[in-house]
Amino acid sequence: MEEFQANTVVIGAGVVGLAIGKEIAAKNNEVIIIEKERKIGQITSSRNSGVIHAGMYYKSDTLKAKLCVEGNQLLYSYAKKFNVPFINTKKIIVANNETQMDQVLEIKNQAELNGVENLEILDEKQVNQLEPLIKSFGGLLVPSTGVVDQHSLMQSYLGEFENNAGMISYNSKVKKISIVDNRFVIDVRDNKNNQTIISCDYLINAAGIFASDVANAIEGLEKKYVPNTYLVKGNYFSLNKKIPISHLIYPVPEKISLGIHLTLEIDHSIKFGPDAEWVDDPYDYLVNENLKSKFIQSINKYLPDINENMLSPAYAGLRPITSKEDRVKRDFIISTVENHQIQNLINLYGIESPGLTSSLAIAKYVTERI
Ligand SMILES: Cc1cc2nc3c(=O)[nH]c(=O)nc-3n(C[C@H](O)[C@H](O)[C@H](O)COP(=O)(O)OP(=O)(O)OC[C@H]3O[C@@H](n4cnc5c(N)ncnc54)[C@H](O)[C@@H]3O)c2cc1C
Repeated sequence: MEEFQANTVVIGAGVVGLAIGKEIAAKNNEVIIIEKERKIGQITSSRNSGVIHAGMYYKSDTLKAKLCVEGNQLLYSYAKKFNVPFINTKKIIVANNETQMDQVLEIKNQAELNGVENLEILDEKQVNQLEPLIKSFGGLLVPSTGVVDQHSLMQSYLGEFENNAGMISYNSKVKKISIVDNRFVIDVRDNKNNQTIISCDYLINAAGIFASDVANAIEGLEKKYVPNTYLVKGNYFSLNKKIPISHLIYPVPEKISLGIHLTLEIDHSIKFGPDAEWVDDPYDYLVNENLKSKFIQSINKYLPDINENMLSPAYAGLRPITSKEDRVKRDFIISTVENHQIQNLINLYGIESPGLTSSLAIAKYVTERI
């Protein structure tokens, strides 16, 4: 059995764990990131839309609103500074009737309260001038939305982390955590069940869809402080044809998700999704071809000339959700000593969208609290 010590341990090498790790390592702390997979970002952080969100939809007093709006600016600056590929595509939220246009106006008001700037209401003709293939009643132009190459972003966070002497341990699954003399003692196993013990003063749980499982493995953390994590699967289909569209196109949002939208990859290819379906299996990543007809129904409301033959199953991701309430009522949970009575422990739950956009702001928020 091997033993290691560090000042801080971060569990999870997704985009959030890496951002937190690099931020803490930059302050001259000894940090170890523990990751059960063989590489960084193998779970939700490489199974998303890669969108740099503006921070439109969330109520102003939420962490999502605060950290997304701040994270958006931090992410653009970071990507420019470290040459991480991104495109400031902008997005258009399209309404297909007058009632939806009223909803678009409400979204605009909320977004402005959140600090999102330069939003522009468009009529049908203006949408058409920007995107001739898109059918709409009108819409909202959001200039601060874009897409980032999330793999390059994570690689860049990792590079900075390692440059600041951060260490990362792959193939290392956290099984159990005890607290001995105010230090966390972490029982880590590789895939052959070989044991390593890592102890630290500060512990950050950024385990994504497994964050509640990891928190439940902390001896002494009362279960009443650990929210459940439910899973909402989002499937994607890619468009196997080139069509001239340069903005991200979003319908008016639905109750549990943003609706099946059109996003661009960094190479300008087009994908549609994600949809939203509750699942139990945390390894359920298969995209069912039968979903095509549901996708086409939604897509055709704003892009009429697309048919099933033009879609190919792409990939799926799982959203970690801490409450089965409507989309607008869900927030990130960043749980500190004030919430759970254990010093020097921070648990991050429900880091669904816009977690990628918010990663640098989340890292700042967490670092200020340890
Ligand atoms: C369908 C979908 C679309 C999305 N689109 C966007 C978007 O366009 N823009 C945006 O901003 N956000 C988006 N998101 C949200 C974004 O992807 C997440 O918020 C972000 O990736 C979360 O990162 P994370 O590091 O918290 O989690 P993860 O990437 O899941 O990382 C957690 C890591 O912890 C590791 N781990 C778990 N348990 C253990 C253990 N016991 N021991 C050791 N390691 C462990 C895992 O292996 C994993 O690598 C989307 C999410 C989904 C599902």
